[in-house]
Amino acid sequence: MNKKKIAIIGSGFSGLASAAYLAKEGHQVHVYEKNEQLGGRARQFKKEGFTFDMGPSWYWMPDVMESFFNDFNTSTKDYFELKELSPAFNIVFGKEDELTIPSDYGELRRLFESIEPGSSLELDSFMDDAKKKYEISFSKLIEKPGLSIMEYLEYDTIKQSLKLNLFSSYQKMVHRKFKHPKLRALMEFPVLFLGAKPKDTPALYSLMNYAGLKLGTHYPMGGFYALVEAMVSLCRELGVTFHTDSEVTELCVLQNKVVSIEINGISNTVDAVIGSADYHHIESKLLNKDYRNYNEKYWSKKTFAPSSLIFYLGIKKTVNKLNHHTLFFDADFDLHSTEIYDEKRWPNDPLFYVCTPSKTDKNVAPEGCENLFVLMPLAAGLEDTPELRDKYFKILLKRLESQLGEQLSDDIVVNESYCIKDFKADYNAYGGNAYGLANTLNQTAIFKPKMINKKISNLVYTGQLTVPGPGVPPSLISGKIAANLMLQELKKKNYEIAL
Ligand SMILES: Cc1cc2nc3c(=O)[nH]c(=O)nc-3n(C[C@H](O)[C@H](O)[C@H](O)COP(=O)(O)OP(=O)(O)OC[C@H]3O[C@@H](n4cnc5c(N)ncnc54)[C@H](O)[C@@H]3O)c2cc1C
Repeated sequence: MNKKKIAIIGSGFSGLASAAYLAKEGHQVHVYEKNEQLGGRARQFKKEGFTFDMGPSWYWMPDVMESFFNDFNTSTKDYFELKELSPAFNIVFGKEDELTIPSDYGELRRLFESIEPGSSLELDSFMDDAKKKYEISFSKLIEKPGLSIMEYLEYDTIKQSLKLNLFSSYQKMVHRKFKHPKLRALMEFPVLFLGAKPKDTPALYSLMNYAGLKLGTHYPMGGFYALVEAMVSLCRELGVTFHTDSEVTELCVLQNKVVSIEINGISNTVDAVIGSADYHHIESKLLNKDYRNYNEKYWSKKTFAPSSLIFYLGIKKTVNKLNHHTLFFDADFDLHSTEIYDEKRWPNDPLFYVCTPSKTDKNVAPEGCENLFVLMPLAAGLEDTPELRDKYFKILLKRLESQLGEQLSDDIVVNESYCIKDFKADYNAYGGNAYGLANTLNQTAIFKPKMINKKISNLVYTGQLTVPGPGVPPSLISGKIAANLMLQELKKKNYEIAL
């Protein structure tokens, strides 16, 4: 096969993964990133001696990241140290009412039993089922491009898929097994990652409980950005060229192929393009409307996972009562999710999450200080003003201080916020979404926006808005699927453009 010049738009996990697989085949791969730093939603910034991961903080499914590096005969261990967190995380239900979730499964069973007698056996059967779902999904389904129902019609795949309870709801499944509200909240919390109400999420996604509670919650020393740096290093070793501050502004199409792309207004010829920036942005801003797969009406009907209001706080003292991950569920979960998905408005009494990586990693804060990442889920597309950010900062800080029983406000030395406007400006995110599309039943597999462009043969989409979905592990897998689709396309005899 002739080696081709392949342009990748965006340097998030999906772009980095597809760059690595394509470069491994000897292609000349160029990654164009509009921001000055690589990594997409997983960027990092430093201020006053603090190092803040801007996006992901839960390193779940370490086997997916490991398997990615193994495909290149390397390991995550060659790049960074991965620590399993113990305890895994905490959930706050009210003042002095907090659950510490152990990393050890035996201890987790004992915790369940102490809250609801008999529930440890229910947990065992829930986890057995969730493990099956995890294994079937990863061995049979997750690497399918979801282009056609035919991909799923192999006898063995159908047989296995029937075991997934695709059509029953996650919430029903949890409620059948567990009666205590704390256990229900613990089991339903991974839907925060999936971005849909538990009742609208297929039972398939209990595989997330298996991933979180059985495979463990990990942390890459140096911060989540260590994974970005590892993938960038690997890509460079494979010959990938990175271009930062390079915004792609147009895809020029001739005879149903992209022949050149405009970067900062300058035209560059290409043989093929992987679009790993937000799908909607590529279609609506970079392509002529005749070549789009979907129109605005299609996007407006989609259920988006939430956006977020985030505060990156540097505190000039240690905060004893916080663990690495703390979920504040001391408010009404159903009300907040209704405000996100149905009413689409700023919440009355929000749930939020605090990550304190300085509890595990002394390098992310100056000595004697604490690094706090405070995140409140929020409907995508809402108005975002300095006044609203300030209002919610006060609400969240007050709740946090009250729970901790100590003041923080006088000790805040760094206070940066990030919200809908920033997601739009920095990542060209539709509605300022943070995690892409929600994993509802009618937005799973073949029902997701398609990875191929129906009219342009050398353009493949990847990333959290397409298959398999949002999250770091799915984005890596998405990059691999996109690279494979592109390799198949490049092998076709008629690939060359008859100019
Ligand atoms: C706040 C937050 C918390 C999260 N927490 C977790 C977590 O704990 N665990 C987890 O697994 N997942 C988490 N996620 C989800 C995860 O981070 C994402 O699913 C994943 O990083 C998305 O990768 P991607 O490659 O699809 O897109 P992106 O990371 O968005 O990459 C796309 C890139 O394209 C660039 N781009 C856009 N337009 C252009 C253009 N015209 N030209 C050039 N470049 C362009 C953007 O700048 C961006 O760098 C979180 C996400 C957020 C935002």
